[in-house]
Amino acid sequence: MRNLRDKIAVVTGAASGIGQATAVEFADKGANLVVSDVNEAGLAETVAAIEAKGRKAMALGVDVSKPEQIEQMIEKTLDTFGRIDILMNNAGVGMSGEMRHMSLQDWEWIVGINLWGPIYGIHFALPHMVEQKSGHIVNVSSSAGLIASSCMSGYTTTKSGLVGLSEVLRNELARFGIGVTVVCPGFVRTNIFDSTEARGLKDVPKGDDLPSWLGISKEACAKDILKAVQKNKFMIIPGPEMKVIYGFKRFAPFLYRGVTKMMGKQFERMSVD
Ligand code: NAD
Repeated sequence: MRNLRDKIAVVTGAASGIGQATAVEFADKGANLVVSDVNEAGLAETVAAIEAKGRKAMALGVDVSKPEQIEQMIEKTLDTFGRIDILMNNAGVGMSGEMRHMSLQDWEWIVGINLWGPIYGIHFALPHMVEQKSGHIVNVSSSAGLIASSCMSGYTTTKSGLVGLSEVLRNELARFGIGVTVVCPGFVRTNIFDSTEARGLKDVPKGDDLPSWLGISKEACAKDILKAVQKNKFMIIPGPEMKVIYGFKRFAPFLYRGVTKMMGKQFERMSVD
C-alpha cells in the first residue's frame, strides 16, 4: 500500500508505545485512524497527536481479549468511515518466569490478549477486506517469536503463533490484494518493561534499569512499520541486536544456542528458588 492518503487504519493498543507512535506515523502520511485500547486516558493523547496532523481519529475503549468488543470496533469503523484499509494488531502484554511458576489463569491472560486478540481482529475485519479486494494486516509479534530462551514460555508461545499465522495469511490473502506484515522488534523503549508480569523471579529490571544504549525509540520502530506496509514487506525485525541473533539462528545454529543459553542464565540468576 504505497499511498496512505485517506486510508482508514485501525490500531489496537494505541494508547502508548509502538501502537501510539505508528498511529501518528500513519496520520502523518494522510491516513485517518481508529485507535483502541483499555487505557482511555492514553488514547486521548494519541487522538490529539493525530488531529494535530490534520487527520481524523476515533478512539474506542476496547479490550482485545473480548471478541464482542473487537466485533463492535470493526462495525463502528465501517459505520463511520465505510471501509478498513489497515488493521494493526498491536495490543500486547508481557510475562516472564519459568513455566512451572505459571498458573492456567496466567496462560489464559497472555494468550487471550496476545494471540486471541489478533485472531478476533482478523476474523472480523477480513470479510470486509476480501470484499474490497484490498487491505493490509500488521501483526505485532516480537523477536521472542523467532528467538527462544528460558523464562518466556507464555510470551514466546503467543508471539511465535503470530509469526506462523501471519505466514499462512500472507499465502492465503495475496490473491485478494491483501498484504501481511509481521513485526518482530527487539528492544523498543516503551512502557512494556514496567507492565510485564513476573512469576518466580525477583528483582526483575524495569524500564529505567535498562542500559540507555539498548533498544530503539518507538518512533524509529513506527517508521520501520510504515515502510513495511508501503512496500508490502512480510517480516521486519526493528532494532539491531535481535537481527544479529536471528542471523545466528539461520546461519550459525551453534552460536544461536550459545547466545540463547546466556540469555536464559540472566533469568536463572533472578530465580526465587
Ligand atoms: P506498551 O505497554 O507501551 O503498549 C501496549 C499497549 O497495549 C498499552 O497501551 C496497553 O494499555 C495496551 N493493552 C494491554 N492490554 C490490552 C488489552 N487487553 N486490550 C487492549 N489494549 C491492551 O508496549 P509496546 O512495547 O508499545 O507494545 C506493543 C506491542 O509490541 C506488544 O504486542 C508487544 O508485545 C510488542 N513488542 C514490544 C517490544 C518492546 O521492546 N517494547 C518488543 C517486541 C514486541
